[in-house]
Amino acid sequence: MKKKKNIAIVAHDNRKKDIMEWVSFNWNELAQHNLICTGTTGKLVEEALIEKCAANGVVPPTVARLKSGPLGGDQQLGALIVEGKVDILIFFWDPMQPQPHDVDVKALLRITVLYNLPTASNRSTADFLVSSELFHESYQPILKDYSGYIKRDVDLG
Ligand code: PGA
Repeated sequence: MKKKKNIAIVAHDNRKKDIMEWVSFNWNELAQHNLICTGTTGKLVEEALIEKCAANGVVPPTVARLKSGPLGGDQQLGALIVEGKVDILIFFWDPMQPQPHDVDVKALLRITVLYNLPTASNRSTADFLVSSELFHESYQPILKDYSGYIKRDVDLG
């Protein structure tokens, strides 16, 4: 991943207040990267960053908005990770309430592990990520070699 990263930000409804506090606090760090969000989170993130950047005379970052999570946004994000188009995921998911798209959430989190993607599910991890010097440096995540799996023999009976 390059110095300027593609950072995905997602929050379930009960965690949107938390993510907005984190985004507003870290607006300056985030403004140096490209942001990709699920629909509703993206609207809130964009509004907050426009306000902060305007107050500080900084050009706001682009915030690409996918579909809302329950309408397929998490799956879109998973596909972008597979294509190598997302470098970091900040995903404040709700540990207290089942979601209509729980299976999509699980799939997204699985893909982040498969592709060794830096992922924060809570504020302290997000704080560690944003304060790492790697946040603004190039970095190559080491990927596990699955070529043996791809070349496996499949028993067709
Ligand atoms: P939202 O989706 O940003 O559109 O609310 C988040 C999610 O539930 O994954």
